[in-house]
Amino acid sequence: LVVLGIETSCDDTAAAIVRGNGEILSQVVSSQADLLARYGGVAPKMAEEAHSLVIDQVVQDALDKASLTERELSAVAVTIGPGLSLCLRVGVQKARRVAGSFNLPIISVHHMEAHALVARLIEKELQFPFLALLISGGHNLLVLAHDLGHYTQLGTTIDDAIGEAFDKTAKWLGLDMRKSGGPAVEQLAEEGDAESVRFSIPMKQHKDCNFSYAGLKTQVKVAIASRNIDAKVPLSCASSLDRSSRADIAASFQRVAVLHLEERCERAVEWALKIEPSIKHLVVSGGVASNQYVRARLDQVVQKYSLRLVCPPPNLCTDNGVMIAWTGIENFRVGRYDPPPPANDPDDFMYDLRPRWPLGEEYAEGKSEAR
Ligand code: ATP
Ligand code: FE
Repeated sequence: LVVLGIETSCDDTAAAIVRGNGEILSQVVSSQADLLARYGGVAPKMAEEAHSLVIDQVVQDALDKASLTERELSAVAVTIGPGLSLCLRVGVQKARRVAGSFNLPIISVHHMEAHALVARLIEKELQFPFLALLISGGHNLLVLAHDLGHYTQLGTTIDDAIGEAFDKTAKWLGLDMRKSGGPAVEQLAEEGDAESVRFSIPMKQHKDCNFSYAGLKTQVKVAIASRNIDAKVPLSCASSLDRSSRADIAASFQRVAVLHLEERCERAVEWALKIEPSIKHLVVSGGVASNQYVRARLDQVVQKYSLRLVCPPPNLCTDNGVMIAWTGIENFRVGRYDPPPPANDPDDFMYDLRPRWPLGEEYAEGKSEAR
């Protein structure tokens, strides 16, 4: 089994080829981070154009690096949601073209399920059920994975995701955003005193597993303004005093942002053990899971419960094609795929996209647990 995975849900155009046994034959990511840094965010129309410009080359590079032709593929997997529909469409169109021309089955993939399941590619012992914390630019989810395609959502964000808070903090601190804000904040935080700025932990009074990062974002903004830090002055040009106060804010923000994750994870483990007493792992994935401080702190949390932390390597935490190909493989094995589309599939075909697509059912008892 050899599957091509295609991912275009947000700002990265990615493709990869993975074998049924989990061997990664190739992995290609073309990032729009440069574009985003210049324009200060994802503009759907611009992102769509950027995907359209590179998608053919990204898929060709994935084939070349794997030394394969389309004829040697078994199936094509593609993200159909959640994400920006204009962007999703570019990936789905390409997947259907390849599948149609070479008579290959096509597998529809949920982007957030893929963030979780890629952990099963790197950790062969990871069986269902398991608990997953998925932390990225647009999502902040705690889900109990019962089985492939079967999830209970224990918590989500009521406003922003943690990655969004990292990105804004980086922007307001005037950090280099060319790679995305998270890594820049993480790096600067190493120089700072995490206890120096007193940010309050979100949602202390809510005894549930939901998240909130909008308030913390505002606290960071106020702290920056009150210290008269000018984001237009790049970090490299600033006086050392300025640099150290920026580092203090970065470190203090990161500490509290992660404390919020820790508290919610502890509660989620307790809920999860009641629903599925056999869970042995907490999977932490999504872009923010590549943060070393996040990993270290959550490792402490799971040790209290004798669980194991499974965290994919950083390049499999941020958006990638491998996770799409792998989730395709898991679905293909249980017969969840569509027959090849017609070879002359028209490009204006109304694709089955799922821009808003929750991962599983909400945990109904969560509200009474929270009392
Ligand atoms: P989603 O998965 O919700 O659709 P996305 O696809 O944009 O969002 P990912 O690529 O999974 O997101 O993650 C990107 C996010 O991860 C960005 O917000 C980025 O700042 C954050 N991130 C990446 N590396 C780090 C890091 N080392 N520390 C903190 N945050 C990070
Ligand atoms: Fe993602």
